[in-house]
Formats: sequence, structure tokens, C-alpha cells
Amino acid sequence: MAAIFFDLDGTLLEFDRAYSSILSAAFRSVGGESRRAWVDGYSEAFFEAFEACESEPYRRAFDAIDVAHETELLVEALQNQEVAACQPSPDVHSALDRLAGEFELGVVTNGVPDWQREKLRAYELEERFDVIVASYAAGAHKPDPAPFRLAEQRLPTEKYTMVGDDDADIAGANGVGWSSVRYTGGGFATVADELLAER
Ligand SMILES: [Mg+2]
Repeated sequence: MAAIFFDLDGTLLEFDRAYSSILSAAFRSVGGESRRAWVDGYSEAFFEAFEACESEPYRRAFDAIDVAHETELLVEALQNQEVAACQPSPDVHSALDRLAGEFELGVVTNGVPDWQREKLRAYELEERFDVIVASYAAGAHKPDPAPFRLAEQRLPTEKYTMVGDDDADIAGANGVGWSSVRYTGGGFATVADELLAER
């Protein structure tokens, strides 16, 4: 049976606001205010740690800025705000139901395993996938081949397709010999139609 892997952020789930707004809300919920320097400082430190796949990038980034609040509280607040700012893409559950009988289904997402699973769980998506690969577990992010190769190890089959909204999804998948479908928004009904037509 062929496998279809989906990207998470911007594909299965869409953010309804900019990430800087999510971050500001996290600072406000812990200490009552948000400052531009905190948001910028966090973002820079997070990106640097994330790109290098350093452990606990959220914690490291909060530790890197000059803010008095407890890091633990900030991490928890950010995770809550991030989950709340997501919503499932239109028709995603019904599309996955249609695809589940015909394909093995998985996720390949750039991120930290626990963090990404929490988002899937919050929107009743986690149990719909046979395999969930977060790039941190592979030691490199899409478009690097590593997360795709880990997905192949976890779900061995003959044919793979990647569905994602980003160049990293499409280029990364094509680079390891997978086919790809770009998600451009507007809901998953047409994505399911296209995948079922090509099987
Ligand atoms: Mg994405």
C-alpha cells in the first residue's frame, strides 16, 4: 500500500495569526506585558537553536532573553497559545477518513516531537496517522533527506507522496524520490480527490 505523508504547520493545521502575536500573548499571559525586544530576542535565539537541532529550543530561547519570568511558565504559556492559534484546515478530518482506506498515512513535520504531537492531539489528528516523524528525531529539518528517510524506515512501502505547503516539503520529497502535492489552502477535499485519482 502506498503511503502519504503530510506536513503539519500550514498544511494539516493553519495558524490564524502571526507567530509574533502568539509570542506576545504568551508573554502577556505570564507577566501582563510584552516587549518588542523580548519577541525579537526570543525569535532570534529560537531560530538559531532550532536550525542546529539543539535540545529544548523553546527553553533555550526564553533563557537567552532578559526577562524576569520563570522559563517554565513561559514555555507552557507559549505552547498553550500556539495550540489555541491553530485550527484544522477545512475538511481535513473527512479527507483523511477517505484516504485512510486506500493509503498508509503519516506526518513529516519540522519540529520537536512532543510539541508537534500536542498540536495533533488537540485537534483529534494524532490517532489518524500510522507514523509521525518530527525532524528533531531525525537530526535535521526538511528539505534535508533525513526526516524523509526516517519516515521510510518507520513505514516501509514502495511509493511515497508528500503533501505540504512549503518549498521544503516539495523539494525535500522530490529529492528523495517521493512524489509531492503542494497544499495551497482552501481545504483538503480537493487534495483527497487528487490523491485518490492518482492511486
Ligand atoms: Mg508547513
